[in-house]
Amino acid sequence: MPNNNKFTLSIVVPAYNEEEVLPEFHKRLTEVLENLSVPVEILYVNDGSSDETLKVINGFHDPRVAVIDLSRNFGKEIALTAGLDHACGEAVVVIDADLQDPPELIPQLIDKWQEGFDVVYARRTTRDGESFLKKASAKLFYRVIQGVSRVKIPADTGDFRLLSRRAVEALKQLRETHRFMKGLFAWIGYPQVAVNYHRDPRFAGKTKWNYWQLWNFALEGITSFTINPLKIATYLGLMTSVFSFTYALFIIYKTLVFGESVQGYPSLMVVILFLGGVQLMSLGVIGEYLGRMFNETKQRPLYFVNSFNPSTSQNESDQ
Ligand code: UDP
Ligand code: MG
Repeated sequence: MPNNNKFTLSIVVPAYNEEEVLPEFHKRLTEVLENLSVPVEILYVNDGSSDETLKVINGFHDPRVAVIDLSRNFGKEIALTAGLDHACGEAVVVIDADLQDPPELIPQLIDKWQEGFDVVYARRTTRDGESFLKKASAKLFYRVIQGVSRVKIPADTGDFRLLSRRAVEALKQLRETHRFMKGLFAWIGYPQVAVNYHRDPRFAGKTKWNYWQLWNFALEGITSFTINPLKIATYLGLMTSVFSFTYALFIIYKTLVFGESVQGYPSLMVVILFLGGVQLMSLGVIGEYLGRMFNETKQRPLYFVNSFNPSTSQNESDQ
């Protein structure tokens, strides 16, 4: 069990074009941290923002702040990974910069961690400021992914969570290019527990997700955690073969008894189109996996760092 006096907490905040929210975020976060009285580092990961995000972070003049400036925009999952790689706390909290994840929940996450849990994830009970379609698609997504995958990925959780040191070390060993973080958090195992909260709407700025990206995100989730879609082709093929064999027997019988006729063009078209469709779809499914294999085999580093300024307060508080 971690010792209360000694531990250092790292807060990892991925930020992409968040200049409007960051000052408010930092204010609310530091208010929460004041009451914690433990050595803390706040790791901001600037994910190749095209606005003044980096300037805003550097303007905080807070010794607890560390900044990782990535060489370009790599996407949230990678930005998070960069943060986890650089975090040196006994426990690491991952939180969005847009204030959809309330920093006020952090003490509760820490309590659970001190009870001995390795992954304490925040589960949203309500979501404000999001459309019906987004909520419904999110629900469907969790249902599908829980149905197909062997690791239990908890529903209604974002990336907002606390990880123990050994959970972070475990995650750091998973270097795949296609990173479905929610799945990876669940995949490592260890004792996990949920803390409920109310999800606020974005404080300012806008979400970086559109529906096409969400669909791709869902594909990413499914393909990184199950190969079941590949099996669908096998069974579809089997079913069609059995069906066409029975149908062939029926035609032979019909020809023998009633003689041959040239009719049947429409049914022929239907069968050809149906089979063509099934084949193309199965090829597409194989393609999804093949494409991902292609990307993984390159074994590229996940990100490059433009500059890293570690927190200056940490060494003092360690003494
Ligand atoms: N983010 C990032 N890189 C990106 C997109 C987003 O680091 O390419 C960060 C963003 O700054 C925010 C968090 O990831 O702190 C969540 O992003 P967003 O609010 O757009 O996602 P949503 O809450 O809609 O899932
Ligand atoms: Mg958000």
